Amino acid sequence: MASGAYRNGVHKGAPAASNFKSSSFKSKHPPVAAPGSGLRRSSSTSLGAASGSLKDDGGVPGRVRVAVRLRPRNAEELVADADFADCVELQPELKRLKLRKNNWDSDTYEFDEVLTEFASQKRVYEVVAKPVVESVLDGYNGTVMAYGQTGTGKTFTLGRLGEEDTSARGIMVRSMEDILADLSPETDSVSVSYLQLYMETIQDLLDPANDNIPIVEDPRTGDVSLPGATVVEVRDQQSFMELLRIGETHRIAANTKLNTESSRSHALLMVNVKRSVMGREAALSSEDDNSSHLVKPFKPLVRKGKLVVVDLAGSERIQKSGSEGHTLEEAKSINLSLSALGKCINALAENSAHVPVRDSKLTRLLRDSFGGTARTSLIVTIGPSPRHRGETASTILFGQRAMKVENMLKIKEEFDYKSLSRRLDIQLDKLIAENERQQKAFEEEVERITLEAQKRVSEVERNYADALEKERLKCQMEYMESVKQLEEKLVTNQKKWCNGEGPGVSGAEELAEVKKLLQNEIHLRKAAEEEVDYLKNRLGQFTQPEAGGNSEILKLRKSLEDEAHKKKKLEEEITILQSQLLQLTFEADRMRRCLERGGSGNAFTGLDSLMSQVGHLHLKDAGNGQRASIATLSEQVGLQKVLSLLESEDANVRIHAVKVVANLAAEEANQEKIVEAGGLSSLLMLLRRFEDETVRRVAAGAIANLAMNEANQELIMVEGGISLLSMTAAEAEDPQTLRMVAGAIANLCGNDKLQMKLRSEGGIKALLGTVRCGHPDVLSQVARGIANFAKCESRASSQGTKTGRSFLIEDGALQWIVQNANNEASPIRRHIELALCHLAQHGKWTSTFLLRKPKFSGNMFLKTTLNLLICRSECKGHDQWGCPLGASAYLTGLFSGGY
Ligand code: ADP
Ligand code: MG
Repeated sequence: MASGAYRNGVHKGAPAASNFKSSSFKSKHPPVAAPGSGLRRSSSTSLGAASGSLKDDGGVPGRVRVAVRLRPRNAEELVADADFADCVELQPELKRLKLRKNNWDSDTYEFDEVLTEFASQKRVYEVVAKPVVESVLDGYNGTVMAYGQTGTGKTFTLGRLGEEDTSARGIMVRSMEDILADLSPETDSVSVSYLQLYMETIQDLLDPANDNIPIVEDPRTGDVSLPGATVVEVRDQQSFMELLRIGETHRIAANTKLNTESSRSHALLMVNVKRSVMGREAALSSEDDNSSHLVKPFKPLVRKGKLVVVDLAGSERIQKSGSEGHTLEEAKSINLSLSALGKCINALAENSAHVPVRDSKLTRLLRDSFGGTARTSLIVTIGPSPRHRGETASTILFGQRAMKVENMLKIKEEFDYKSLSRRLDIQLDKLIAENERQQKAFEEEVERITLEAQKRVSEVERNYADALEKERLKCQMEYMESVKQLEEKLVTNQKKWCNGEGPGVSGAEELAEVKKLLQNEIHLRKAAEEEVDYLKNRLGQFTQPEAGGNSEILKLRKSLEDEAHKKKKLEEEITILQSQLLQLTFEADRMRRCLERGGSGNAFTGLDSLMSQVGHLHLKDAGNGQRASIATLSEQVGLQKVLSLLESEDANVRIHAVKVVANLAAEEANQEKIVEAGGLSSLLMLLRRFEDETVRRVAAGAIANLAMNEANQELIMVEGGISLLSMTAAEAEDPQTLRMVAGAIANLCGNDKLQMKLRSEGGIKALLGTVRCGHPDVLSQVARGIANFAKCESRASSQGTKTGRSFLIEDGALQWIVQNANNEASPIRRHIELALCHLAQHGKWTSTFLLRKPKFSGNMFLKTTLNLLICRSECKGHDQWGCPLGASAYLTGLFSGGY
């Protein structure tokens, strides 16, 4: 529809040309004209003031809108009333009508619209019926009624077909035109019934034989229907016009004195409009993808609107109609319905609790179409003749009362269950098909993945087996080689002994020892080989094709999981085996070197000791072959895998894994990878969790190696490494463990940024604590740590960021420094000298104090260094030890009772 006015009861735009439409119905109780008063409707402003604010959406109240239409004088009136003025005077711009009482007095009434005798049919339609038609199209019920004295133009207004003159088309024709224009023929429908109510009987104007149609009211919805009435579906305007023509010919018209053409029956055109609309959810989901349709299925909604156009019988009084006999009864019946309508309107206008709807067929028929939940327009038609002033006055009052009737519009929307079910069926079928397709695809995919997984598993297994075999061969060769060398060495030694150059009894013992070692090693070798065989068998088992079909997905999944589990186990075993092989290689190498040194070294007297070396810092000493094998090992097994084994439940696995990690950590190139893969955290975790001395030793060794890197040092501190190392240092008995811990702390000591934290977390004390074991390797690491720390301190002191006494001295390092300043092991001595140099820079007093000690007097390097430093500072000569004068006074106070 072209009009932008009210759609769905909502004012959607600027009001169209019609004032009627833009009228407001805010005023719930417009004043009613009281007879005898001058200006009956005094509140002329109330309508105007509220103009344009109609908002009766859904359950919002509206009001029955009433227009008055004046018929022009007809030929008879032009003659008969030639000397008289019209009984009414219209003021359309004010929407007022003046009803003349006499020459000097008149009553004024206001209507929603006042249509003069010149008002065109088009305009009448637009102001009276169009808003109702639009409501009907939006799913509301609506009524257009014409009320008035016979001959005033009710049928003219409503029922003109306008066949000769299109501009004469009445409301029925125009309504249908608008309805048909707005519907979509595919989804919507419109049907028509045309009825006549005559003497309280409902007749079918489309089928006159059908002359006693019952009225049925749905108690639930209140909808009124006429089950017996002919319902014709209208597809085009022509067929509708035809229906109207048929109806018209069937209308009963009885002659009255007033107008031979007028009808005494009520004519009702019922137009049922059914429109398909998408449900709100469906509308929303249609914007989404298809999947959301699956969740929220399309909800077809049907909006049903019913338009009733009622051409009421004449409202004239019976006595005036001059009816007799049958016509008198007729007139009574006609007026029964009319007066019932009047009573209902009064009750509705007064908001009375009881509305006598049931009093007449007309009111029962209009129950769901007038007032209540429908949008209603009433056009009251009047004639100009002063002779009918009384009738005109009562018509006007009827209209006035109707203006007070409230509507509570309700949209008639319901599910189209049939359509919904049909659509759902289609959707279901689609889904079933889609599901079948997906199921098939899924099965194929599972099959494919399973095959691929099997292929990969066997490939990996093959690779492992190959690598294992290679490694085994290599080890075997190396082993053979070293055995050969040992034997040669043995022969040489035996020869020497025979020549009397042998090492005597001790030599024989050593030989026996070596033999024992050899035996031992052969045993180990055998065990390793057995394990390799076993592993191969297992591998063989795994590579055997699986029996049984792949049809059942569940079974497949289960077997896949089993396979993965077995594979994991296998990998762990391989790792252990490989690390065992690695150790064997290591041992062989060690032994070879031991023997090469003439067998005199007593540091490594047994296999255990050799074993213990695996994973130590001294891996650097290992040959290229070993490093290469570790690298190979880590590549094959995967660093992540090795690291994960650090957390294995099996203590044996943990030990092997940590050894492998330690070996890797000895290589600078690997350190970053290890830390990136979370190895540092895992190693610290081992210190935290496991009591096993070997694990802790090897882990500490690995940490010491990682601690060579500055970035790692900070990380170690952040992850609480110092307290863990301190804890390990405090508990450890094994000198090698202590050496690892001391080495790690010594590395951390060399980081300027970590000085404070290291010290506050007890690092220095822990370092000094390790000297208790007295092992030179440990002492050497302690000395290195002290030197490192002292270097950082002196740097900080010279930059002015550190003042006061040295932390080393505060934590009691000085005593140990002094005691070990002349240690016979050169690495210890050298680090202590360096530490002293730095301490000397830290404060004059330290050096002065130290220099005075007779212990140092022989150490020329130290002396020269200190003197140099002292001379650089202010100096007033030296004392008998070559120490700057006056300097000693400093120290006496600081180290009272010192050394
Ligand atoms: P009703 O249905 O109220 O009895 P009709 O519609 O039959 O009255 O009108 C009676 C006569 O008056 C008809 O001849 C009709 O053509 C004429 N008439 C009614 N209204 C108008 C009008 N507005 N303009 C011209 N002629 C009219
Ligand atoms: Mg008529």
